[in-house]
Amino acid sequence: MIDPFGRHISYLRVSVTDRCDFRCVYCMSEDMAFLPKAEILSLEELDRLCSAFVGLGVRKLRMTGGEPLVRRGIMQLFRSLSRHLKSGALDELTVTTNGSQLTKHAEELAACGVRRVNVSIDTLDPAKFTEITRWGQLPKVLDGVAAAKAAGLKVKINAVALRGVNDEELSEMVGWCGKHGHDMTIIEVMPMGDIGGEQRLDQYLPLSMVRTRLKRDWTLEEIDYRTGGPARYVRVKETGQKLGFITPLTHNFCESCNRVRLTCTGTLYMCLGQEDAADLRAPLRASESDEALVAAIREAISRKPKGHDFVIDRRHTGPAVSRHMSVTGG
Ligand code: SAM
Ligand code: SF4
Repeated sequence: MIDPFGRHISYLRVSVTDRCDFRCVYCMSEDMAFLPKAEILSLEELDRLCSAFVGLGVRKLRMTGGEPLVRRGIMQLFRSLSRHLKSGALDELTVTTNGSQLTKHAEELAACGVRRVNVSIDTLDPAKFTEITRWGQLPKVLDGVAAAKAAGLKVKINAVALRGVNDEELSEMVGWCGKHGHDMTIIEVMPMGDIGGEQRLDQYLPLSMVRTRLKRDWTLEEIDYRTGGPARYVRVKETGQKLGFITPLTHNFCESCNRVRLTCTGTLYMCLGQEDAADLRAPLRASESDEALVAAIREAISRKPKGHDFVIDRRHTGPAVSRHMSVTGG
């Protein structure tokens, strides 16, 4: 699949549920309204959709959400999708998780051919962790990370930089990741979805400032490592681990964007930061053959926009796109 700007679309991220057992302050409001179960694609339908994308040349699938590992029966989807790894049609099957269910699922994920997991941890202070996630318990997540490592999974830690919350801790986290052999990615907060009382402008911490702060403690060496995604990587000389910076508010990654995102209702978003979307559930359900579905996917890719329009400044404190990250899948 090649879009109008010549970009090869080889990466599909799938939000398998919009639900979550946490309520991170930058991601959700405390009283989130979730989608009615009837609107959600079954695991079999998700498999069929993912497989259609694999048939069209997608080489990498990432399961995300919401919290993917709280969806009932989710391991069935991993088990069935692992056939594409075995056949060689797919290079990678991965998952982004808050880690709360990893002790339960790490071994089976590894058995399904998953090699890497991203675990989101914004602080190593247990009290602060519960403040940020509202409902999360850090020890449980750390047990999950340990279980993943023990199962042979490579763990990358994702941390969202939050002004006045974890800015002073990110340096310590770089050290912790180094000690445990995890790469790390620091994410700039994005204006997605109404999150209640919290003010985006208050949370927003530009990564240029984070980088300057980290350089006091660490030597950050430029490296030529790209994933086609929005992260720019350096190597932390003292630990040898990679450290990525995701700055969604700058446009420096759109030209190499290789991904599209599918929601748990079968809506395909061609860009994280744009409202335009394609409904794939109707063609999926209309026929047992994939003909209409494949045509709808191709048509959607032909509309992939050049880039996003995110802004956070004093005049734009509301969400740039109304849907939450948990819907599109971060
Ligand atoms: N529940 C899983 C987790 O937390 O990793 C997967 C879904 S979550 C939406 C994916 C990633 O998006 C997490 O690393 C989370 O920190 C990040 N995220 C959520 N809302 C965000 C926002 N408004 N700005 C930047 N990153 C966000
Ligand atoms: Fe849940 Fe992940 Fe959003 Fe936190 S960031 S509320 S863990 S979906």
